[in-house]
Amino acid sequence: MELSAPARPTTDHAHDVALDDTFDFLNTDDTENGDPAERLPTLEAALSWFVDRGVIHREGADLLRAQDSGHPVITSRDLARIRRVRSALREVATAIVDHRAPSPAALDTVNRALHARQVIELVPSPDGVHVDHRHVGDPIDDALARLADPLVAEMTSGHPERIKVCDSDTCQWIFYDGSRTSRRRWCDMSTCGNRAKAARHRARERAAGAAPAVAN
Ligand SMILES: [Zn+2]
Repeated sequence: MELSAPARPTTDHAHDVALDDTFDFLNTDDTENGDPAERLPTLEAALSWFVDRGVIHREGADLLRAQDSGHPVITSRDLARIRRVRSALREVATAIVDHRAPSPAALDTVNRALHARQVIELVPSPDGVHVDHRHVGDPIDDALARLADPLVAEMTSGHPERIKVCDSDTCQWIFYDGSRTSRRRWCDMSTCGNRAKAARHRARERAAGAAPAVAN
């Protein structure tokens, strides 16, 4: 878990999404002790997460809540859409890591999500001109497009080779390896890295026939 705390938007119109936000989104499809752990269990949880990351306006989220209220079919369809794009993005990210082609269905889902991006336009302001955007279509589609953007940007002008999957079997988090040598294996040295080190230590002790070490 790399918490480099990207700058949060200070206004409603500054939706700057960082690659860390994208990976945090992918990692909401989490595991705990090797079992799947869904961090976006409800549409409400997903909307709160989107608002927190600045990819949906608070008002937009409230509007969606009002629309979905009392319509469980719409609510579950929206949640399924979010998870479908998330898993497609994860498939693309892991395909990059594995140097293989992603599944055509995942690629199709990501490409369709990308097309729902915002429309930017210049609008006059008392002291000159500023950038505004109209949200076209659905706020959830828009949020998903925003979250897909940094991955595409990394592929086109970044360091896709630094995208990694945590080496821990019980973690599998996607992370960006910003280390100098680009040889980081775990999402976080203090958790997954230490666990792996402790496991190797125990294995060595066992092999040496010594009493099992106390894990720290
Ligand atoms: Zn990890």
